[in-house]
Amino acid sequence: MATTEVQRVVFDSGAAASMVEELRGSYRSGKTTSYEWRVSQLQKLEKITEFHEQEIVEALRSDLSKPEFESFVQEIGMLKSACKLAIKQLKSWMKPEKVATSMTTFPSSAEIVSEPLGVVLIISAWNYPFLLSLDPVVGAIAAGNAVVLKPSELAPATSSLLSKLLGEYMDSSSVRVVEGGVAETSALLEQKWDKICYTGNSRVGRIVMASAVKHLTPVLLELGGKSPVVVDSGINLQVACRRIIVGKWGCNNGQACVSPDYILTTKEFASKLVDALKSELDKFYGKNPLQSKDLSRVVNFNHYARLTKMLDEVSDKVIHGGERDVNNLRIAPTILLDVPQDSLIMNEEIFGPLLPIVTVEKIEDSFDLINSGTKPLAAYLFTNNQKLKDHFVKNISAGGLVINDTTIHLAVPTLPFGGVGESGMGAYHGKFSFEAFSHKKAVVYRGYALDASVRYPPYTNGKLNLLKALVGGSLLGIIRALFRSSKA
Ligand code: NAD
Repeated sequence: MATTEVQRVVFDSGAAASMVEELRGSYRSGKTTSYEWRVSQLQKLEKITEFHEQEIVEALRSDLSKPEFESFVQEIGMLKSACKLAIKQLKSWMKPEKVATSMTTFPSSAEIVSEPLGVVLIISAWNYPFLLSLDPVVGAIAAGNAVVLKPSELAPATSSLLSKLLGEYMDSSSVRVVEGGVAETSALLEQKWDKICYTGNSRVGRIVMASAVKHLTPVLLELGGKSPVVVDSGINLQVACRRIIVGKWGCNNGQACVSPDYILTTKEFASKLVDALKSELDKFYGKNPLQSKDLSRVVNFNHYARLTKMLDEVSDKVIHGGERDVNNLRIAPTILLDVPQDSLIMNEEIFGPLLPIVTVEKIEDSFDLINSGTKPLAAYLFTNNQKLKDHFVKNISAGGLVINDTTIHLAVPTLPFGGVGESGMGAYHGKFSFEAFSHKKAVVYRGYALDASVRYPPYTNGKLNLLKALVGGSLLGIIRALFRSSKA
């Protein structure tokens, strides 16, 4: 929270307004737009990952019991790579891009100039509380903006660490952290921003978008959804199962936006798949996964209750796992088979360690099932069949697709990361982060030579014919029109 029990500091709309005003003053001074400022701030972010790794690991352990391995690979390491890439590429990203002009503007030259948007707000979620807070900040700073970050109150240790570290390292005239929950976020959302980047669920996404409407503020919404995994037969089943397991339980125990939400496979293949999943799960997490140090816990009791409610409704469908420990907020990796389509678990994003398997007659039927729901953030296909791959890529609309693996598209910095439809709008990562927080300004340069009178009144048929020929692009037509107008 923005407040502590000892020292209560109220962060209301007035406080938010004066903070934004200060940041706007700093932005207007032009300091954040210089290459030097951007690089120096990105280097500071990188230093945070270098010098404070253990504190970050401890905060993530306190918030989620996140294993150190996952904290490093999926949060700290990813942020470090994002900083390094931005520092390395910043000059080329900032460089105006020369583009061709048309005959109708001859002679002229043109370029696209990327300019910062101004003062931006980043609202982050609890599940990857370090990465999802700072990764968009990298893009916002690289693009030359002043930034306010609002981490999630559901990951309080990481939130307070971010506030402390950014306070120590970053230029406070242009980069701020506001801690808090709904009240503080609402106070922030009342202000005018030049962009809002929100990561979280689609219900709050709608609140964010509605408040952005007042000021015509653009939004980047990183939401979630039910990400399906289609599993065909004739594959390397052991490798496929390992990749499904690591994408599900090895990513914050299913509490990841791109985690496999449910599996689709044929009735015929289901039992083989189930056996292989069980066998690999045992190898990874042992016979008593509630004790495993390699699995995060459920974030809090509300989410634990949400998940157990889902599970209890279809408890007769559990074929593996199902054990739970309310005192330690743990639920074992759980597989369910043939859950009804109208059950809670098939109608809400699961966001936890439960994995239902839905069976279909033919593998192609799974595509209709996916397309009958809202567009997911990710969709995965395991197959060796080229036709099926082509069909999947052409016909499944999702934020991103991976063939024969899960979740790894996030680690490819040349790919945009974002949703479509219900799973979000806009994208970031790599150069897309820079672009997400920039305006692409169109600039045309002209001189005074060759001032063609054809565009000026009085309008004549000859001028019109010449312009029609120019627009038509036929050289012969242009010569004819020029010839006719010289005779007229
Ligand atoms: P959360 O509870 O941490 O909420 C996200 C943010 O919204 C927080 O900062 C919170 O303070 C703020 N918030 C909550 N209620 C609010 C309100 N009424 N008004 C204004 N602000 C409010 O996170 P969550 O929503 O539980 O996150 C899980 C969801 O996020 C899942 O749907 C998941 O798929 C999605 N997600 C998406 C991505 C992505 O990159 N696309 C990443 C992580 C999570």
